[in-house]
Order: sequence, then structure tokens, then C-alpha cells
Amino acid sequence: MLSRRVDHFVESVIRDMTRLSIKHKAVNLAQGFPDFPAPLELKQAAADAIMGDYNQYSITWGAKDLREEISRKAREYNHIEADPESEVTVTCGSTEAMMASMLALINEGEEVVVFEPFYENYGPDAAVSGAVPRFVPLDDDGSIDENALASAFNKKTRALVLNTPNNPSGKVFTKDEMKLIADLCIDHDVIAITDEIYEYILYDGKKHISIASIDEMKDRTITISGFSKTYSVTGWRIGYAIAQKSLTSAIRKVHDFLTVGAPAPLQHACVTASWFPDAYYKELAGMYERKRELLYNSLKKAVFSCSLPEGAYYILADIPESAGMDDMSFARYLVSEVGVAAVPGSSFFKSEKGLHKLRFTFSKKDETLMEAARRLETLKL
Ligand code: GLN
Repeated sequence: MLSRRVDHFVESVIRDMTRLSIKHKAVNLAQGFPDFPAPLELKQAAADAIMGDYNQYSITWGAKDLREEISRKAREYNHIEADPESEVTVTCGSTEAMMASMLALINEGEEVVVFEPFYENYGPDAAVSGAVPRFVPLDDDGSIDENALASAFNKKTRALVLNTPNNPSGKVFTKDEMKLIADLCIDHDVIAITDEIYEYILYDGKKHISIASIDEMKDRTITISGFSKTYSVTGWRIGYAIAQKSLTSAIRKVHDFLTVGAPAPLQHACVTASWFPDAYYKELAGMYERKRELLYNSLKKAVFSCSLPEGAYYILADIPESAGMDDMSFARYLVSEVGVAAVPGSSFFKSEKGLHKLRFTFSKKDETLMEAARRLETLKL
């Protein structure tokens, strides 16, 4: 006997592709995590924290010094004022922050607006919290269809999920787009829940904007981010949610009973990450910009058509018609016969568009990307 809740979603295809990749000894360009080491200083800080006896629970909503650093970073980078005592919650990755936010906000049957393409987790997050996701497709060039967005809002709409830079498309929402979204949220009394985990991974001079920094949005936004992607520590599971006091106290209640708290020694180590100089973030974006080029060129040279993402570390590529396979069959063929793992597009789309796409990540060593390129070149269709 299982709950009805779990009937509404399937296991993560992203993580399933990683398991398949291991089984077939493939190059894993499916799951977005770095295969290169985390910064040495950060690893040392984690080892020191364990040896220094930071091994018991931290305060449930996050170690005080880490919340203070998150608050400072939010002020300086995101232009959001947040009281570390009452408006910051440290969670087990931004994944938990999103889940805890939805559980804290949404009642059975209420709706959440989600742009398509979307990160795989939002549908199941909505299902677990009893919410109904309402998908708003972005145009092929990533622009918002204003009418489609406006008509997605109704009396039942409780929240909107805004992921910028976007996984999987790499879209970076502009200030004008944010204003459009903000106006709708204000008019319909809707909370924006953001996912800004790729906020430092931007290309071609693009700038990150947090919707909470826009007039009147601070009190109706839950800003979510974390340390995983910026500091290449996806396995540490340190994320956070920033929100005004009453929203934060609801998120904290859910978070406390779900997880008690994020790993204490790793929270301690993340304080060290907050002190990294500006050059670190510039180098990070520069490194990914080079890797973006590498993967883009090899996908083009193989059989795919695609465009360069504006941010994050994924390329959404079109499967050529000559393949004669949908995304799922092609992904399976690629991992077992060619030795490269990618994620089937349908994980990111409600519509049929996803059936013709695969997502590849370039968050990998150059040698990994080059090995994938070599294998992809053998693809004959
Ligand atoms: N965000 C990463 C991706 O999209 C990793 C997802 C996960 O497995 N938590 O691949």
C-alpha cells in the first residue's frame, strides 16, 4: 500500500541516467555535478571543522555565523536585505529549500506557475505539497509569451517558481521580464519562489538579478540558492532560503521536522567559502565559459543542433530527425552504444517538445568533455 502522493511523479530521470552511465562505463554528461575537485581551502576547512569537533547538530535553521555570511552576501550580490536571525534558513541543499517552501506555503489543490522548460524537481515538489503545477512554455528563443503567462494566474495561484539562470535552457531572465513577473505576482497576491543556484555562472557579460531586489517583491519572494554549484560541492547539501519573517518561520518549521538541520561541519566550512575574493567568481564563470565552448563545438561537430546558453552549465540539444528515435530511446542508445550519458528532454518539458531534445552538462574536466567529444564523433545516423 502506497500513498496516492507518490503516484503523481516518477523517480528522477537525471539520477537514473547517472546510474545507467556507471553501468555502461559511459562518460556522464547527464547529472550536473563537477568531476573535478572542490577548492582546496574549502576541503581543508571541512576537514578542520570535523577535527575541531563541529560534529553535533547546529541550530536547526543554520549555524549563526553562516547565516550572517549568507545575509552579507545577499546584501552585496543580490541586493536583498535579510536579517540573519529571522529571515535566513540553511537547508539540505536548495532542493530541500524548494520542497520546504512549497510545503510551508501551499494547500492541496492550489496552483504553482512554472515556466517550461523546467528543472525536473519542481513537478514532484508540487505533487508532494499537494499543489497543481501550471506550466507556461517559453518561446523557442526563451522569451515570455505575456498573454500565456497572465492567463496562468487565477484565484488558486499561490506561487510562481523562477529559476534563473535556468536549468536546462541557460536562460537568464532580464530586468524587464522580472518586472512583468513581479507585477503579476503583486496583482494576484502570489509568492515568487526562486532557484538561483547558478547565480555566479553567467556568460557574455550577462548579469544576475534577484526578483526579491525589485520594488515590493522582497516580502513576497523566497530566494533560494546554495553552495553546491558555486563552490563545486554538490554532495555537501548546503543550501538556503531567504524570506521575510513570517514566511521564514513557516519554512523553518517544515525544515526542522524534515531534516533537523544541514550537516554542521560543512556549514562551518561554508563560512570559509563566503570569504573567497571576487577573482574566484570571475575565474569560475571564465572556466565554465571555456567548457561551454568545448561542449558546444563537439555537439555541433557530431549530429546535434544547439545554441549557446546564457548561464548555468547545460546545453539543450536537438536530436536530428535522422536518428528516428525519441529522447528516451536516443538517450539509452547513446549511453549503451556510444558511451555518453545525457538526460532525455522530456524530463524538462510537459509538452512534446522535450521528445526531440537531450540535455548535456559541461560541468566536467576538459579531458572528460574531450573523451565525450571523441565518442560522439563516432555517431553515424
Ligand atoms: N541540478 C543537477 C542537474 O540538473 C543535479 C540534480 C540532482 O541530481 N540533484 O543535473
